[in-house]
Amino acid sequence: MPRLRAALETFPPYIPGKPPREVPGLESFKLSSNENHLPPLPSVLETMAEHVGNPAHYPDDAATALRTELAARLGVGIENLVVTTGASELLVALTQITSDGTTEAVYPWPSFEMYPQTTGLAGATRIEVPLRADGTHDLAAMAAAVTEATSLIILCSPNNPTGPALRDAEVRDFLAAVPERVLVALDEAYWEFATAGGTVDGLGLLADHPNLVLLRTFSKAHGLAGLRVGYGVGHPRVIAGLLKAVIPFGVTDLSQAAALTSLRHWDEVMARAAVISGVRDDFAQALRSQGWDVPEAQGNFVWLPLGELSDAFEDACVEQAIAVRNFGDGVRISIGPRAALDRVLEIAADFRAAHFG
Ligand SMILES: *Cc1c(COP(=O)(O)O)cnc(C)c1O
Repeated sequence: MPRLRAALETFPPYIPGKPPREVPGLESFKLSSNENHLPPLPSVLETMAEHVGNPAHYPDDAATALRTELAARLGVGIENLVVTTGASELLVALTQITSDGTTEAVYPWPSFEMYPQTTGLAGATRIEVPLRADGTHDLAAMAAAVTEATSLIILCSPNNPTGPALRDAEVRDFLAAVPERVLVALDEAYWEFATAGGTVDGLGLLADHPNLVLLRTFSKAHGLAGLRVGYGVGHPRVIAGLLKAVIPFGVTDLSQAAALTSLRHWDEVMARAAVISGVRDDFAQALRSQGWDVPEAQGNFVWLPLGELSDAFEDACVEQAIAVRNFGDGVRISIGPRAALDRVLEIAADFRAAHFG
């Protein structure tokens, strides 16, 4: 057997959300991967149908058209942008350019499962700072966890899987407390769904903080998870570093074209995100009225802190042809069609009657 790196033993593999079980007589729903349950915009599907391109050729490695449009849209320079195969590749690249066996990475926990994976793979010491009881980042504890060896901090707003969004003022204070030599990655994969007042908008912080990088994606609000397009926004020196770490020609021509069309229909994307956010608020409120302790939900998902009852709740959903994401200490439910969420509400009510009587 070949000898593999010892670092591989220090973190678990990424576990994708499961598909739902087929149950006769019931429509099945996948609420386990935070996908957009609405199809991409018609204009995006048209672009994809028309945009044959020439697959014998490599795509534009610099994603010039997409970056130009993003720059105009976000009010940054094209040199502040890197396009990657989903925000996932950006996370890997960010870790690559900051971390190795001598460094420490600080991130909240529970949070996105790729954080242990990318930082662990780089060989960094992982400092997982527990969330507060209400599912929010403990920024004071995170700042206190920074040492001479810290090279990377990851923040996630809204936090996957618990839901709360960071506030602008607290992130400003946090950045002021963290040494500028530490790269701070603000993962905004779900920013389009955040509606709470004062939610952090990373773009407004970039000018004052050259050590800040934003992670964004077309996978969630744009509904293009299958095309694998994400982007990073940051200081040109950091972007130049990232460009050395990303895979050349990773984002296909078709994916770049689809993302570009989706961007050009920004208002429609944001309007659909607002619809999903509205359904999310109703769903979270309905769960709270049943007695559930649901944290602030600002993404396209809701967290149920079920503790050791997580398996039992997941099983109850599986029996009703619904796939949810079980994290062991709680269950995350992605916002899907009303019919799916109504069924989850029934399951949740029965579950409370059975377990909390
Ligand atoms: C989904 C997600 C991403 C990135 O997904 P990609 O499909 O790779 O763009 C990044 N961060 C968080 C927190 C996510 O939930």
